[in-house]
Amino acid sequence: MQLHRFHGGLKLADETDASTAEPVLVMGVPAKLTVPLGQHIGEATEACVQVGDHVTKGQRIGQSKGYIAAHVHAPTSGKVVDIDLYPVPHPSGLDAPCVVIEPDGHDDWGDARMEPWLDWDTRDLRALRQRLRAGGIVGLGGAAFPTAVKLNPRAGQRIHTLVVNGAECEPYISADDMLLRTAPEAVFEGIRITARLLGVERVLFAVEDNMPEAMRSLTETLPPELRDLIELVSVPSIYPTGGERQLIKVLTGQEVPSGGLPADLGMVCHNPGTFKAICDTVIQGRPLLSRIVTVTGPGVKHPRNVEALLGTPFADVIEAAGGYAEGVDRLVMGGPMMGFAVHDDSIPVIKATNCLLATRPQDTPDPGPVMPCIRCAECAAVCPAQLLPQQLYWQAKAKDFDAIQDYGLFDCIECGCCAYVCPSNIPLVQYYRYAKNEIWAREKERHKSDIARERYEFRQERIEREEREKAERLAKKKAALKNKEADGDKQAAIQAALERAQKKKAARAEESAKGSDQAPGSETTREETSTTNDTRDRDDR
Ligand code: SF4
Ligand code: SF4
Repeated sequence: MQLHRFHGGLKLADETDASTAEPVLVMGVPAKLTVPLGQHIGEATEACVQVGDHVTKGQRIGQSKGYIAAHVHAPTSGKVVDIDLYPVPHPSGLDAPCVVIEPDGHDDWGDARMEPWLDWDTRDLRALRQRLRAGGIVGLGGAAFPTAVKLNPRAGQRIHTLVVNGAECEPYISADDMLLRTAPEAVFEGIRITARLLGVERVLFAVEDNMPEAMRSLTETLPPELRDLIELVSVPSIYPTGGERQLIKVLTGQEVPSGGLPADLGMVCHNPGTFKAICDTVIQGRPLLSRIVTVTGPGVKHPRNVEALLGTPFADVIEAAGGYAEGVDRLVMGGPMMGFAVHDDSIPVIKATNCLLATRPQDTPDPGPVMPCIRCAECAAVCPAQLLPQQLYWQAKAKDFDAIQDYGLFDCIECGCCAYVCPSNIPLVQYYRYAKNEIWAREKERHKSDIARERYEFRQERIEREEREKAERLAKKKAALKNKEADGDKQAAIQAALERAQKKKAARAEESAKGSDQAPGSETTREETSTTNDTRDRDDR
């Protein structure tokens, strides 16, 4: 197939010979496992076990709450001896919540193992995605993005191409190379499952041209029925071909839009290790409990690849590669270009640990003092994201965070090409990381203050509404009272009138009763009448 070229990039020396000389060593269970609850992009999980609990291998110990999250499982059986903050591999160097397990030596699955799904191709797609979620699968290329989310495209978004990113472009890392040499069948099964989930028409399987063993292994084991679907492609080993956007450009000539995703072009990209993990979870019912780590660099006695349980201390992994060489002064998680230095080798292997690189002072000579930018534009020439690194640098230095975003800061993949070629030794990537962190922190602050403002406004509104309602209730009560009083007066008036009427009636009745008493005895009445008339006559005179 016709390949394309992305802008910039570097041809770096391949340093994987030493670590690929030995087969992958499956490490045993360490004395203690420190399993971080957040070891993927997205929300950290919440511990669903307690100190003192006995856990079985594969038992869920970290429950994801959000959508972009992945469960965490016990890598072996044993006792939970602590749940607390511990140092974890992260550029910030900050501690994070971990579940500490003391293995019981039985490596017992109990009931935790999921039922194997040999008939996965007849299973409902939703159930398949749920199983990936249950297995805690994340991208194993180093990004650690939850896989179930990536395999659940937006409604109406058609994915036609699956890209397998076997372009392990960092100079020292050989974890994917060794996986493809030793377990290609599992990778193909994972691809088959993923292809069904996404309904893709084609799979582009990219392998760097400095991985001939891996390519041979894949060619020999590619199942005949997949030959129409999967195309194995050898791509030039130019750093950073393994960047998702750069690989898509090389394979298809298409550019992922700024701020967009490969899915916007109808593509999804995964690392070979992720396909193996998909196969293990779906077909074998095994959640993600271990991963291949390249232990390498001049600071390690016998560089090699090991399969380590998540939670294994770095020191144990180094020991499995013969231990440190004399005079080691630096341990990096990841490759020399994009990795970050760690200051404590008791920290644990996580889902994103693809490489441990140990070096001595003579391996990374002091680049010399940082000098002013001479605007040579060397950095722009090698930038695979086609940015202007020196402009980003100026804006970061000036703390002009609006301008730096206009210059495409968030398209920067932190590949380090610009800093690598800068004749002034300016640690450019550190400026970009600083600017990104500042912007994120400000957005977080803004978000927090927006929420606080909303809360305040809501509270004010509630107080006003309550006062209004109280006043209305009071007014109603008063009106009711007034009405009642008015009603009372009216009633009293009626009552009084009634009483008066009754009195009158009673008086009349009395009078009429008196009248009827006199009628039979007329003499007395006549006498009284004549006396009365006499008296009147006298008065008239
Ligand atoms: S390579 Fe360094 S010195 Fe040259 S323009 Fe870029 S930042 Fe400036
Ligand atoms: S680190 Fe960023 S700015 Fe520098 S070359 Fe890489 S993508 Fe470009």
